[in-house]
Amino acid sequence: MRVEKVNLLGLTREKLISFFKEIGEKPFRAQQVMKWIHHFGVDDFGAMTNVSKALRAKLQEIAEIRGPEIVSFDESSDGTRKWVVRVTSGSCVETVYIPENGRGTLCVSSQAGCSLDCSFCSTGKQGFNSDLTVAEIIGQVWMAVKSFGPPASSEVRSVTNVVMMGMGEPLLNFDNVIDAMNLMLDDFAYGLSKRRVTLSTSGVVPNLLKMIGKTDVSLAVSLHAPNDELRNELVPINRKHNLQALLAAIDAYMDSLPDNSRVVTIEYTLLAGINDQPEQVQQLIRLLKDVPCKINLIPFNPFPHSGYERPSNNAIRRFQVALMDAGFNTTVRKTRGEDIDAACGQLVGSVMDKTRRSARYEAQRQGSSEVVKIVEQVS
Ligand code: SAH
Ligand code: SF4
Repeated sequence: MRVEKVNLLGLTREKLISFFKEIGEKPFRAQQVMKWIHHFGVDDFGAMTNVSKALRAKLQEIAEIRGPEIVSFDESSDGTRKWVVRVTSGSCVETVYIPENGRGTLCVSSQAGCSLDCSFCSTGKQGFNSDLTVAEIIGQVWMAVKSFGPPASSEVRSVTNVVMMGMGEPLLNFDNVIDAMNLMLDDFAYGLSKRRVTLSTSGVVPNLLKMIGKTDVSLAVSLHAPNDELRNELVPINRKHNLQALLAAIDAYMDSLPDNSRVVTIEYTLLAGINDQPEQVQQLIRLLKDVPCKINLIPFNPFPHSGYERPSNNAIRRFQVALMDAGFNTTVRKTRGEDIDAACGQLVGSVMDKTRRSARYEAQRQGSSEVVKIVEQVS
């Protein structure tokens, strides 16, 4: 019987230490191997020159370093990069890299599909498919970093920030997301600061409370409505955990962070005529008056049959100015990578189309003028 190999890509430092102990090796091997995997993007034990030949041979037998299966890769004219990767369940998820002002932000998926069914989200429309493994989550960072070539100069950091804002609700894949975020923060892996790793949740209150003491990453909350009645409609999990419970949980998490200068990011997708009216901005101001936060307005990204529209630029600006006048630091998310369908909420429909298209191109193996490219290997 063929024994399944352990994928070392998905093991936290603690788990890798246990792995080496179990095979009779010293704990320091974990650090050595982590550096090869995450710092140098190596997926071949043979390349690990500071590991003895005997151990390399043993590792080859029982373990592997298996990155994501890349279905397609696009690069937008604005530098945004988008990968579609296939996960174990057979579904596809997306990873998007957004370069801006000297930062490189990677938007990472945590689940294939999502069970929470927010009314304006294309991932929600797909329903839940599967949880990503730790290797599949951290593999997205591994793949993105690797796509910039070998880290010859440590001054150039391709990925400086990670946001758990791709497909899925990260708090519903709790353990795997926590392990993957620990790897993002670990100096032997990606060494990102806790301020530069952000978990976004639509408000899974019990699991938000469970984060306390387990991690100290930055928090973003998808609010989208200033009262329970509207939020029940837009973000159905609000029927289970209402605004009052959500605000209390945010407060508890933020309070648990040692550094009290940190603030929660409130995400608010603007839907024309639904939640972008003067009355709602006033309600929002009242709701958030005691919440140390910054507000990120996301103009709705339309997708077919959504039933919603993006507000006019004037309406967006009016909403922003009203919040700023009330003293809130408020930004409007720019749409990036529109030419490759990499904007928020544009994911699923186009993933399906492109997966089909990519399969066709793979079969044909012909040069193509399409933006979609099959990437067999990330160099
Ligand atoms: N499930 C998590 C994280 C992923 S979504 C969450 O909901 O927070 C990242 C952000 O994009 C969320 O704020 C989400 O509500 C928003 N979003 C989803 N679909 C969108 C769309 N079509 N247009 C604009 N924002 C959208
Ligand atoms: Fe799920 Fe987030 Fe989409 Fe809601 S907005 S359906 S929680 S991915």
